[in-house]
Amino acid sequence: MRGSNGAPWDTWIEMTTTTGTVAEIRIAKRTGFCYGVREAIDKAKEARAAGKATHTLGQVVHNEGVVRDLHQLGIETVETLDDVDHGAAVVIRAHGVRPDVMERASARGLEVIDGTCTWVIQEQKELAKLVEEGYTIVLLGTPKHPEVVGLLGFAPDAIVVDEEEDWDRIPRRKKMALISQSTQPPWKFEKLAAYMVSRSHELKIVNTVCPVTIRRQEDTLETAREVDLMVVVGGRSSANTKELTRLCDIAGTKAVQIENVRDLTDDAVFAGAKVVGVTGGTSTPIEDLHAVAQRILELGGTPEARANAANLADAAFAAAATPAGRTTSLPSPATTPRALAS
Ligand code: SF4
Repeated sequence: MRGSNGAPWDTWIEMTTTTGTVAEIRIAKRTGFCYGVREAIDKAKEARAAGKATHTLGQVVHNEGVVRDLHQLGIETVETLDDVDHGAAVVIRAHGVRPDVMERASARGLEVIDGTCTWVIQEQKELAKLVEEGYTIVLLGTPKHPEVVGLLGFAPDAIVVDEEEDWDRIPRRKKMALISQSTQPPWKFEKLAAYMVSRSHELKIVNTVCPVTIRRQEDTLETAREVDLMVVVGGRSSANTKELTRLCDIAGTKAVQIENVRDLTDDAVFAGAKVVGVTGGTSTPIEDLHAVAQRILELGGTPEARANAANLADAAFAAAATPAGRTTSLPSPATTPRALAS
């Protein structure tokens, strides 16, 4: 007995029960590391390439593949300056640190390589100015996030608020200022600004929401509107990744949030989806997105898509604005372990 495609009956049953529906992947226009993360990684690699004993203070990015690659290059992650030997180089990651951490590193005779993102440096300067001008400062941010911890070093009395239920802690003062952690969603910043209007006589608003974050949200929304399902790749606790997932929901497109390709094990997720979109947080490298795109096709693709998964994933990246393989801004990607292994 034969199935409708002429295949032997048992083969046909197998094909119809395991064949997926995904025929196309679309990658959000701009993905991969933001420039701040990329620069910090490059600075660490450059220091190591120059023969320096190099460490990063905290994980330069919360991504195990990247941390592993750096480890293979001889760049170690340390949690405290006490773990760094005198004379060695320590890279400050894009989130920045409190000024006293910088001072302590210099006092210990370490070579400080400042990978603080230029946008975060600007935030730090703005905060210091607001303190000098005597404002009561409200900082919209996630309380224990490293960027917020670093910012508080410039304005120790700033009131940190996050979700709306926190906001009634904001006192009424004559002279108040509002500023934001870089990756907070713009809608939340605007809502809080409106809320604060009634709590102060003079309100200064310094909009420090990072434009990269905003653009990524716009691109994700655009892609979400064109596809049947979105896969959002990024750290589980990453605020900017969670926001991308929330935006997909707002666009009315089901979204699955994963940390990496290993989380994709169930083809049922893709049932009925023909076009699947992929986006990622600012700490998610392009390589991870590429692996996810290929895996979606292998797991949930039509027979043709499964057979051509790698090529279709390549084509999806070619159509997006960020070139595949762009992990850092270093001129010679061939020196990265992943490139050397391929
Ligand atoms: S999200 Fe923006 S502010 Fe934060 S590190 Fe990236 S570029 Fe810099």
